[in-house]
Amino acid sequence: MKVLVLNCGSSSLKYQLIDMSNEEALCVGLVERIGIEGSVLKQEKEGVEGKLIKEQPMKNHQDAIKLVLEALIDETYGAVKSMDEIEAVGHRVVHGGENFASSVIITEEVKNAIKGCFDLAPLHNPANMMGIEACEEILPNVPMVAVFDTAFHQTMPKKSYLYGLPYELYKKYGIRRYGFHGTSHKYVSQRAADMLGKDIKDTKIISCHLGNGASIAAIEGGKCIDTSMGFTPLEGLIMGTRCGDIDSAIIPFLIEKENLTPQGLSDLMNKESGVYGMTGISSDFRDIEKAAAEGHELAQVALDAYDQTVKKYIGSYTAEMNGVDAIVFTAGVGENGIETRESIMRNMDFLGMKLDKEANKVRGKETVISTADSKVKILLIPTNEELVIARDTVALVK
Ligand code: ADP
Repeated sequence: MKVLVLNCGSSSLKYQLIDMSNEEALCVGLVERIGIEGSVLKQEKEGVEGKLIKEQPMKNHQDAIKLVLEALIDETYGAVKSMDEIEAVGHRVVHGGENFASSVIITEEVKNAIKGCFDLAPLHNPANMMGIEACEEILPNVPMVAVFDTAFHQTMPKKSYLYGLPYELYKKYGIRRYGFHGTSHKYVSQRAADMLGKDIKDTKIISCHLGNGASIAAIEGGKCIDTSMGFTPLEGLIMGTRCGDIDSAIIPFLIEKENLTPQGLSDLMNKESGVYGMTGISSDFRDIEKAAAEGHELAQVALDAYDQTVKKYIGSYTAEMNGVDAIVFTAGVGENGIETRESIMRNMDFLGMKLDKEANKVRGKETVISTADSKVKILLIPTNEELVIARDTVALVK
């Protein structure tokens, strides 16, 4: 079965066509600048050198998806002869609120529930919905599945998801911790159990998804019991451009002093903060590392602060679960940041965590990076959210 996996952003669309007979990604593509000047599609095919590049106006997601389907039947860079070979579509949907604890076949009811979460994820859910509706138009007879970033975290107990706010606000607006990157945490925690040679039911795992956005999850017996992102993907770690945990009293203080609107403040915390805001250099950790190596003091402070927040979460989740079998590093920084991993895991031997510095000198490859005598295994596991989406899609469609 060939499954198309779609991840729609407001002006971008990432996609993969996966052959589920061997779980191989046949084509991987990205459409950027949808609805704005300079729309472009880029697609690569497994085993073929070069890239298919289509630069042409795309006024909306429907135009973009039409072009994706054309690209998938391209003679050189495509992987199917006709669109009929695409048997199902799996959509990444960021926010499922409390409605979805697992993936579902998309129906009218499901679409209404996704729309009901627009307020909770105003940047993401409307874009995800555009992708769903565009596919319905273009591939009306192909079954579609929604896979939610929040679903994996729905197992959290009340004590983890309720904030210290008046309970009515939870009832009235759904203000609670939801957690994100669930698809990634689910994938790497299962891989970690496999690498430990254990049934996931008998494991305690701390999964560190460190990308541009970053979150950590405490996973006991395969179920998420706590996670660092909250009501929105702003809470928790210091990120590329997001501030993560701050004293919430800073919010009214800034509104008053800087005369900020809610949107202005939200932009400040989501887009102008994090290591970018702390240094004024970049949101990309490679640039920050370079600047730090050249002696830029604030770059070093930002890196140290970042590493320290990750350390704090590892420590607190270890306490919360009364121990841990494995720490997993994944996503852009987690998979590639050799020095970041070294700095996070430094002086953790009290907790039974010892990094093997030589084994740690690796990027993007499934590897055990702890020493042989480390009580807790430290693992590098490249994430594969698209594969989880495709697997869930097949399971539901069958
Ligand atoms: P997202 O999916 O959230 O956009 P990714 O998981 O792709 O993010 O991570 C992107 C980030 O990974 C980049 O911003 C960069 O900071 C970091 N990164 C990528 N390669 C390296 C590297 N070699 N060393 C350190 N950081 C890296």
